[in-house]
Amino acid sequence: MTSIMPTYNRIPVTFARGSGARLYDDAGKEYIDALCGLAVTGLGHAHPHVTEAIAAQARTLTHTSNLYGIAGQEKLAARLTALSGMDNVFFGNSGAEANEAAIKIARLYGHDRGIDIPHTVVMDNSFHGRTMATLTATGNRKVHAGFEPLLGGFVRAPFNDIDAVRRIGENDENVVAVMVEPILGEGGIHIPEDDYLTRLRALCDDNGWLLMLDEVQTGNGRSGKFFCYQHSGILPDVVTTAKGLGNGVPIGACLARGTASGMLVAGNHGSTFGGNPLVCAAANAVLDELEGGLMERAGELGERMLSGLRQGLQGSNIVKDIRGKGLLLAVELDRPCAQMVTDAMEAGVILNVAADTVIRLLPPLILSDEDADQVVATVVRLVKAMA
Ligand SMILES: *Cc1c(COP(=O)(O)O)cnc(C)c1O
Repeated sequence: MTSIMPTYNRIPVTFARGSGARLYDDAGKEYIDALCGLAVTGLGHAHPHVTEAIAAQARTLTHTSNLYGIAGQEKLAARLTALSGMDNVFFGNSGAEANEAAIKIARLYGHDRGIDIPHTVVMDNSFHGRTMATLTATGNRKVHAGFEPLLGGFVRAPFNDIDAVRRIGENDENVVAVMVEPILGEGGIHIPEDDYLTRLRALCDDNGWLLMLDEVQTGNGRSGKFFCYQHSGILPDVVTTAKGLGNGVPIGACLARGTASGMLVAGNHGSTFGGNPLVCAAANAVLDELEGGLMERAGELGERMLSGLRQGLQGSNIVKDIRGKGLLLAVELDRPCAQMVTDAMEAGVILNVAADTVIRLLPPLILSDEDADQVVATVVRLVKAMA
């Protein structure tokens, strides 16, 4: 551990293996994983179909280059565009890289329209990644601290506030795009008004701005639909995803539609590893499972857990809010609750705390009803004990 840069405050537990919704640490203790390595292993650990796809591809061909055709990447791109209603896709290796591609698309789009210093509107309390452009886009001072000078070209608005974005546009003729998470993930699972995306879409259309959605955390079936925007019946111009797409194999995707889909071309963007045969085999296997009914299951399971949490914590005086969409679930307390992570681990449940006061659950889509009920019961018990 000592030779690793201390970029994470690590919990002193090391997992040795996993199976489905279960993790086992190196002392053999069993846990229900209600976090999925932060919304990544949505199909659970060591999923047989994904494991077999990775192993078979590794035996055949792991990497060539984007200088050549890649059959698995073609197939994955066709499936992702069909699932999303988008026109094309660029593959990188992470959420941050997918968002870098989106930010670059916005700048190219702005220059095409004769705007020399194009501005992208981003939201307070958002999270978009740790590269220079994505940390600048992120609406969290802690993420910026020490990395000044930040990039230019970003203007900030409160989340879930259409009028604020409209006012920015009225005073700034350099705006070319709006970049937003459909649900704030790292910000603490904040769900906007039902018509937020619809109204943002209309505002972008009126002004010729790109609507760019960061679905790195909310995508890949977690919300109950493949992309969260599909609950709103709109299409973005750009949508990014990563986390759940490879079930643990690093892959990021930036999908674009219409004018936005023509911006990234030979010479202005690229990636050595992006969309290589190995990661595309994993992601294609993930899509096989998602298309087999798992997205609907995520929606049902989310409702079951949400109502279980609401019932169990009814009247608790330290609970400020209980909210969720699909398997993005949050119990917000009136106080910091970092201790909840270790208490839950002792009780055999992996969960996480976001924004200091929010217990965040991102369980796998393959969770059984029994395990879901056990996670809920554990959270309810621990919150009551804290009160
Ligand atoms: C995790 C996350 C990112 C960054 O993804 P990385 O793969 O860590 O670069 C970006 N946006 C959102 C919404 C995220 O949740």
